[in-house]
Amino acid sequence: MDTKVYYLDRNNPDFDVLKYAGSVIRGGGTVVFPTETVYGLGANALDAKACKKIFEAKGRPQDNPLIVHVCSTSIDDFVEKIPDRAKKLMDRFWPGPLTIIFKKSKLIPDVITAGLDTVGIRMPSNNIARELVRQSGVPIAAPSANLSGRPSPTNVKHVIDDLYGKVDVILGGGNCDVGLESTVVDMTERPAILRPGGITYEQLKELIDDIYIDPAVMKKPDKNFRPKAPGMKYRHYAPKAKMVLIRGGLEDVVGKINELCRENMSKGLKVGILSTEQTYDKYPFGTVLSMGDRKRPETIAANIFDRLRQFDDLGVDLILSEAVEEKNIGLSIMNRMKKAAGYNIINI
Ligand code: AMP
Ligand code: MG
Repeated sequence: MDTKVYYLDRNNPDFDVLKYAGSVIRGGGTVVFPTETVYGLGANALDAKACKKIFEAKGRPQDNPLIVHVCSTSIDDFVEKIPDRAKKLMDRFWPGPLTIIFKKSKLIPDVITAGLDTVGIRMPSNNIARELVRQSGVPIAAPSANLSGRPSPTNVKHVIDDLYGKVDVILGGGNCDVGLESTVVDMTERPAILRPGGITYEQLKELIDDIYIDPAVMKKPDKNFRPKAPGMKYRHYAPKAKMVLIRGGLEDVVGKINELCRENMSKGLKVGILSTEQTYDKYPFGTVLSMGDRKRPETIAANIFDRLRQFDDLGVDLILSEAVEEKNIGLSIMNRMKKAAGYNIINI
């Protein structure tokens, strides 16, 4: 497939390009676009045939539903009803990195929801994303624009590496601000966080005091696991190398990583270390990349997927990674890192 690539300025996007990309969506094609979370691979959410192309391009399992992106809070056509407390969340957090699960209306095709009677909807804050939805005149179904299983794309290079030749249009728009996917909240029953993301548990709790984090979010799913969010059961975000997370007091963690690094290098393995700004120069061996500043964990969120992909490009055999504290955005970072490591964790 011939893929057209356009680079847009997020603050001053070329409207001719957005109009054209909108017409591709309306015509049943696929368009990759930047959002504040990660890049999305979009198609017309009301066109089942167009949405099937998303699953094909990504190699995504059919039972993993897609999020529907909108450009306003007028979503009555797509849902059965908007519960009062869901309205509260929309008023406070839209546009932004929060996906809300509603009972779906008949307009939403089954292929999007993987046969569920619910639909996840979000209004992105990224200009290009919202304007693309507006220009296309339809809601846009879009999962992350990576090959299924790989780390999500947070810049246009990541997208081109995975999807060039498999989609009609790629819109580049710089690095994603948040760098992690949206938080998914189920508002059809007792409010539950099905996936932690750009909006934190602490922020949601301020508005919805009985909201809880689904227990499947932070631990390894067992064989009989039947998740509420189908995506929970798949291998995700995985770099090519084996990855191990080391968790504990920072000095002990640095000591353990250096020990494991030497041990594995002496076996002839190429070892990558995921450090933070605070520890970057404490690792004399291995290939060291910093994920960001521990005092500003949002920098770690913004960099994490890129660093995992850099280790792929560097061809390391093993990644030894520091852990971060599981609060605020740190909970979302650790959710992704645990999955990337296949729940391979050393506690010291
Ligand atoms: P992705 O866009 O690739 O990050 O994946 C979208 C995520 O949202 C997946 O983990 C889905 O399981 C979740 N999701 C989308 N729609 C629903 C829904 N109706 N019910 C539960 N989870 C959903
Ligand atoms: Mg994804």
